[in-house]
Amino acid sequence: MKIRKTQDWLKDNHYKLCSSIEQTECYKWSRWLKDQRTHVFPCVCTIRNSACSFAETYHAIWKVNNILVKEDKFIEALIDYFLVIEAKSSLKPWLKRYKQLFQEVLLIDDNIKVCHGRSTLQNDIFKFTKEELKHLLKFEEVYLSAI
Ligand SMILES: [Zn+2]
Repeated sequence: MKIRKTQDWLKDNHYKLCSSIEQTECYKWSRWLKDQRTHVFPCVCTIRNSACSFAETYHAIWKVNNILVKEDKFIEALIDYFLVIEAKSSLKPWLKRYKQLFQEVLLIDDNIKVCHGRSTLQNDIFKFTKEELKHLLKFEEVYLSAI
């Protein structure tokens, strides 16, 4: 799924998200809708309905999107990395500088299941290709090798 498509999907489904949130007993979603900095706890529904699953999917895609819009930062970090390597300097400052970015990349789930109607069998799988995530994955690989 392309970044542009991800953003369109989020926009197109925002209304559905709001109505889903009204239909779920998982009150974390209304809290999250009001303040997107709130931590999202695991589901507490006694019986999970499709509204809660949908909110979960929306949230997962929203998280990936937040990272994808920062692609420039990943490219910058990679350029920085190769400069450090070339100069044969210590990677410690680099690791420190991009620690936050690395923690964000760990949140990425490149396989997001979307639950449509009532049946959980009617799923669409949002799959981000390696090509779409290439700078993020390269950054993750380089960071892990530098630790
Ligand atoms: Zn729930």
